[in-house]
Amino acid sequence: MPTPALKIYNMLTRTKEEFRPIDPANVRMYVCGPTVYDYAHIGNARPLIVFDVLYRLLRRLYGESHVKYVRNITDVDDKINARAAERGVTIRELTEETNKVFQEDVRALGCLEPDVQPRATEHIAQMIAIIEKLIASGHAYAADGHVLFDVPSMPSYGRLSRRSLDEMLAGARVDVAPYKRGDMDFVLWKPSKEGEPGWESPWGRGRPGWHIECSAMSWKHLGETFDIHGGGIDLVFPHHENEIAQSCCAFERDVMANYWMHNGFLQVEGEKMSKSLGNFVTIHELLTGWHGFRWPGAVIRFAMLQTHYRQPIDWTLKRLEECASRLSEVRQRTQGSPQGDVSPVLIEALTEDLNTPEAVTEINRLFDELRRDPANPSKAGDLRASCAFLGINIDEVDPRKMPVAGFDEPLIDSLISARLAARAAKNWAESDRIRDELAAMGVALKDNKDGTTTWEVKR
Ligand code: AMP
Ligand code: ZN
Repeated sequence: MPTPALKIYNMLTRTKEEFRPIDPANVRMYVCGPTVYDYAHIGNARPLIVFDVLYRLLRRLYGESHVKYVRNITDVDDKINARAAERGVTIRELTEETNKVFQEDVRALGCLEPDVQPRATEHIAQMIAIIEKLIASGHAYAADGHVLFDVPSMPSYGRLSRRSLDEMLAGARVDVAPYKRGDMDFVLWKPSKEGEPGWESPWGRGRPGWHIECSAMSWKHLGETFDIHGGGIDLVFPHHENEIAQSCCAFERDVMANYWMHNGFLQVEGEKMSKSLGNFVTIHELLTGWHGFRWPGAVIRFAMLQTHYRQPIDWTLKRLEECASRLSEVRQRTQGSPQGDVSPVLIEALTEDLNTPEAVTEINRLFDELRRDPANPSKAGDLRASCAFLGINIDEVDPRKMPVAGFDEPLIDSLISARLAARAAKNWAESDRIRDELAAMGVALKDNKDGTTTWEVKR
């Protein structure tokens, strides 16, 4: 069965279109990456997973060496400066540490590494070059150490977000500043105070605005015009609108990217995620202990893919538990089977604007088929391969360790470590006491020959 053409919903035209790359031998995609000042939250995980699935699909359709995926790292930003000062660390220390955890998180979520992960601070020269082009062509002006983009100079401004000027003014929460000619004009460059990160420029020592970073990094790594630009729906305005304004005016192009894709927002247990509501959850927390369980990246990913990327998603414990249970069954039934073929139905679902709920239905159908015909190794292999294609590593899910209400996996592990330490010190009374404590919690221990201890929930 030939693979159908890829169709994607293009925010520029508000329609689902057939994807036609500029050059099929070099398909180019840019996705706005994190600002590295704090742990990434589960909302941030959504674009990471969604665009990773798209990357995998593009590699399948066009060949692995014919797709270039760029996801940037924003390592210069006012939030970074403020957080570094608050914690008493240098900016470099903060961004290095945060980026390290971010890279671990995305790996754990089963995402392939993008081809390039450019850092904003390494692209200051390109930013200055674009700003100079914009000034020369009358689309930007320098005033009071700042450089601003002159929004009225671009008649098509607002094309992506399709907002009226009033809505844009409200949405941008514009700063009123004496050096601005128009309310909508936005900052390309601003002066840095003593102690703030800054670079020499024709307009004095300063630093870039956020939007110019993406125009510079996409230009350097993908060229003046490329195929796909992605990010969360909150970025449509003003961030992506401003990226388009900068790149199209600087390079005298009608489009920056041909297809603009945006994932919907994620909320937690029916409410907007926020620190003040206490429902804020980081990827790191999910992986290391949330509701008493260390959720494998494969489970988090499977849970995310249940909802189509353009729909809002409600992140619930119940869904995670169901996904953990389903993947654990898949693991039990497919363990040791040879790798088979990815289901063409699954690929077809993804070519339809990344219809991951349909892909999940196909995974469930393959599973039901295997359940009816359990001795069929080719069915097991196809199921494993189909999960793997979605970036779901079934082997991460340990059926002996399933989330159970009232269990606290990190606590159990720390009790086991304490017991191992007691045994090493030949404190048998303490070791037995801990074993009994765990038994009372319903946890059975097994001491292995290699000196490790594993555990199981007694059901
Ligand atoms: P930020 O670090 O806030 O710029 O976010 C990084 C990426 O995560 C962007 O693509 C955002 O659109 C996306 N994002 C942030 N919060 C959420 C959320 N609650 N749901 C879905 N995507 C989000
Ligand atoms: Zn961006």
